[in-house]
Amino acid sequence: MIARPKVGEFMSNVCPRCQRAVRSRVEVRSVQLARTRLVVRDVPVDVCPDCDHMISFAPHAVEQLREAGWAK
Ligand SMILES: [Zn+2]
Repeated sequence: MIARPKVGEFMSNVCPRCQRAVRSRVEVRSVQLARTRLVVRDVPVDVCPDCDHMISFAPHAVEQLREAGWAK
């Protein structure tokens, strides 16, 4: 079973934009998929507190995106 980070929890991560370790925060966001105009709502992601860059999807968010047609 995959651990589900809760919204508001902090995770240690490396922000690719700041290029340093940050304490990213899990937030629920609407995510626009890179190659489509499809927006998936209420996706848990973790966000850099410094530059607001979306670092990664939470593991279970991938499942949600796949259902929406991403990564077929
Ligand atoms: Zn950053």
